[in-house]
Amino acid sequence: MARERIIQQSATDNAPPADDRDHPESEKMAAMSDGDFHSDSHQFDDDLRPQYLKDVVGQRKVVERIQIMLDAARRRKEPLGHLLLDGPPGLGKTTLATVIPRELGTEIQITSGPSLSAPKDLLPFLTNASYGSVLFIDEIHRMPPAVEEFIYPAMEDYRVDITLGDGLNARTLNMSLQKFCVIGATTRSGMLTAPLRDRFVNREHLDFYEEQDLRVIIGRNARKLQTTIVEDAAHLIAIRSRGTPRKANNLLHWIRDYAAVKSSTGEITRTVAEDAIAMQEIDHLGLEGQDRRYLNTLHEVFVGGPAGLQAIAHTMDVPPDTLEDEVEPFLLRSGLIKRTPRGRMLTPKAYQHLDVEPPAA
Ligand code: ADP
Repeated sequence: MARERIIQQSATDNAPPADDRDHPESEKMAAMSDGDFHSDSHQFDDDLRPQYLKDVVGQRKVVERIQIMLDAARRRKEPLGHLLLDGPPGLGKTTLATVIPRELGTEIQITSGPSLSAPKDLLPFLTNASYGSVLFIDEIHRMPPAVEEFIYPAMEDYRVDITLGDGLNARTLNMSLQKFCVIGATTRSGMLTAPLRDRFVNREHLDFYEEQDLRVIIGRNARKLQTTIVEDAAHLIAIRSRGTPRKANNLLHWIRDYAAVKSSTGEITRTVAEDAIAMQEIDHLGLEGQDRRYLNTLHEVFVGGPAGLQAIAHTMDVPPDTLEDEVEPFLLRSGLIKRTPRGRMLTPKAYQHLDVEPPAA
């Protein structure tokens, strides 16, 4: 049985770094809180999270490569090389980061970029890291520069340089660390500095899931939640989940509750799923209120674009980060918007979806 020790650092332990105060997480949540249902909520993540690599659905190429990395590390009896996972929220970065140490039978410590406001916040994680263990840093792109510089020698040479005192009396103490593995997760690999990115020997990008994979996830999780779901309903939820397992899980939870209240058997039939989804105002492409507001703002205020992210965000009164992380990736992938050097623009498909005429050329 894998030995796992999870040391989770509460974000409230430390004040957010200065550049993070612009868009703290609470502000993001407030911006999203237009109802009770949040398809991005993390509430059910841990209950339904796959435990081992064999339970991870989809992302076949990524999983195959990680399997090879694990096998090689086991054979060499050496820690895994540092691994960077990037991709939109809810696609399985934390899942993979927790599966890997379990597969290796090693320990994991969990923290996140915004909660590491100074090197002293990172130091205990580094000194506590046992041989071969994993240090998972979520939102690694939000690590302040001073922390980033502090982690370089730790990742490269397994040592830290601690400066004691200041001025003429300053001394640098070199402390060696156990060989460990950093798994970084980011929704914005583009925001990572080149030196930090280069320290990750392994990099994997997670993409949106195929409907077929989401159907498998929904079927499995319906069993875990001890609810019955017909194939047709699982198919519908998969289509409406925007290629994102977290959204599929959250919709499944909502529909299970809806079925328990509205249906005599509690079974999730196609009709029950349709009615429950309609109540959350999720449309046939899986777009939610915030996505449609984005498209409407681009149409009504910016005449279809091009418009800059900041301008759209200010008009919608939503942090730009939220739009860039949670709204735009799916709109881009669905071909509803495009990014041009001059800004975001609606595509003909978006006008069709909004059922409005495109502006005259
Ligand atoms: P991220 O860290 O990328 O935001 P998570 O790893 O927290 O996403 O995933 C959110 C939830 O989605 C998890 O709790 C898990 O239940 C589900 N999930 C994600 N990826 C998979 C997958 N490949 N197979 C099955 N379930 C998944």
